[in-house]
Amino acid sequence: MGSMKDPMDAVDEGLLVNFACPNPDCQNILEYHVEDAAFDFSTDRHADGIGYAETRVVCEECQDEFEVVVLATGVGKEVTIKGFPNSMVEFVDNSFEQEYDDFLAEYNPEDPFGVYNATIRELDNLHHGSTIMPSAVRAFNKMVCLWHIIAVETYLSDRLIKIVTNDSDKLLALVGGTPALRDITPKLIDVAKDPNFVAKYTKDYLQRFSFHNLASVAGFYKAVLKINLFENDEHEKELLDIIKMRHDLVHRSGRNNEGKDVVIDDEHVTILKGLMTSLVTRIEAAHNAYAAKRASEVVAGALLAAVKR
Ligand SMILES: [Zn+2]
Repeated sequence: MGSMKDPMDAVDEGLLVNFACPNPDCQNILEYHVEDAAFDFSTDRHADGIGYAETRVVCEECQDEFEVVVLATGVGKEVTIKGFPNSMVEFVDNSFEQEYDDFLAEYNPEDPFGVYNATIRELDNLHHGSTIMPSAVRAFNKMVCLWHIIAVETYLSDRLIKIVTNDSDKLLALVGGTPALRDITPKLIDVAKDPNFVAKYTKDYLQRFSFHNLASVAGFYKAVLKINLFENDEHEKELLDIIKMRHDLVHRSGRNNEGKDVVIDDEHVTILKGLMTSLVTRIEAAHNAYAAKRASEVVAGALLAAVKR
């Protein structure tokens, strides 16, 4: 399951900081939410965009007081204790999260299948047009396979987002078939403020979802396009094995559960590419049938309205 931020939780709690009490006689570790600062990326001069915040905190152990300073610049944040330049403060730099959130909110996939095909052409050029040292072939094939998998994940995500953000019936079908969406309890005020609340929430959910979680993705596609991602049990096993291999490549530096190196020869790359592209082609066919039917319904609806007039 992909992790996501709850949009209803957008309360600004400040920046969580951790540091050892600078008082040399005190052993306390202080943990506080302090006032956060943000860099303003819209200014022309870097110096004008710098953000600064100071928060006074009291050590509950020795009662000493300290000023925690947050400085936000274009390259990230710095947190210090005033007067104690050697004190190390632990915090998570969130400087670029908001930018990424804005990017996601603005993002509208234009042509998921076209993007997929362009990526596959690039990959084929790379795979067949490169001269690779024999000692590097294994690593090269791992990279090509991972890229094929990522291209499919992107397609699966973009295709679904495009459908449900353009068709309220399909949005309803997806929400209805997805417990993580169906069963949340939003605040009525958030729904009242935004007529597109459900669509936005759903898009945000899909954008943060890990689309290599094929079992869940199969549920999405079943609900929206009424298609089985897996043609049969054997096909399901093949696809899930690929995802397991992806896991070994990404999280175990290319080793499996037993610690053995995952070996991918040219033949494996070709088989994997075939499985991935046929999956995409089959979904795209189902999507095209849906899109054609929907277009004809729109025309029929318009004609009916014209006749009634
Ligand atoms: Zn202290």
